Amino acid sequence: MADGTPRSRFDLLTRMRAGDELDLDDHDPGETFGWEKEQAQATVKEEVAALAELQTRLFAEGERALLVVLQAMDAGGKDGLIRTVFTGINPAGVRVTSFGVPSDTELAHDYLWRIHPACPARGQIGVFNRSHYEDVLVVRVKGLVPEDRWRRRYEHIRAFERLLVDEGTAVVKLFLNISKEEQRERFQDRVDSLDEQWKFRRGDLEDRALWPQFMDAYREALAETSTDDAPWYVVPGDRKWVRNLAAAHILHDVLERLDPRYPEPEEGLDGLVIT
Ligand code: AMP
Ligand code: MG
Repeated sequence: MADGTPRSRFDLLTRMRAGDELDLDDHDPGETFGWEKEQAQATVKEEVAALAELQTRLFAEGERALLVVLQAMDAGGKDGLIRTVFTGINPAGVRVTSFGVPSDTELAHDYLWRIHPACPARGQIGVFNRSHYEDVLVVRVKGLVPEDRWRRRYEHIRAFERLLVDEGTAVVKLFLNISKEEQRERFQDRVDSLDEQWKFRRGDLEDRALWPQFMDAYREALAETSTDDAPWYVVPGDRKWVRNLAAAHILHDVLERLDPRYPEPEEGLDGLVIT
């Protein structure tokens, strides 16, 4: 914003929320929401501390779970986001699962077969680095299954996520939205740095060449599956500090609304002296 007034958490959430008529052109990857870098980084630190406290309560309560689904194009910042936002959270309560190209065994089953066992247990936070959404994204763009088959998956996915929600798992989904130019710069940095070359595969360029097709697939998948129970947020991805702030706000919001409580202690502990 021109006056430099940083947007509130509520305002950010509202602007990032994907509706059922999603237009990705309404979501600028370079958005700052009126924030400055230093200010945002300081706020992220506070948010991460708040998340750690809420996660402790979720874990202690042991009744509900949180599933965070992360999707992005290559170099979209999923790993960096996980590193920043889950720093300081008790590792016993978080599990990150990455979903890559399915194995032969996985391909011999339905596409949700590998997903369900990775969903978080009560008290836990599960983070998906890629997810069942690949089965309506890359699978669609590369024509890995016929259209009539992947198209029916939107409905399966809505039902699957409703099942998770009904049974006590909050579900929140983040699309890290980078521009094609930002991906070019990040790829170039990877190629140019000996420490980062391992992150780059020539095959990444095939997906890059299909950028418009991937954006169409994202637009439709998000619109089809962003529900009140399991909403999608379009997180501006070109600036890492905006991405981190936005994601921290989303997670803070969902955990705050869950409002996990410490269980009642056993009776008669007051004044108990341990000998
Ligand atoms: P990365 O996240 O860079 O390790 O790459 C994982 C790769 O696995 C990406 O290119 C994904 O598109 C691909 N992938 C993930 N899930 C599927 C799937 N269900 N079918 C085909 N490719 C997939
Ligand atoms: Mg990759």
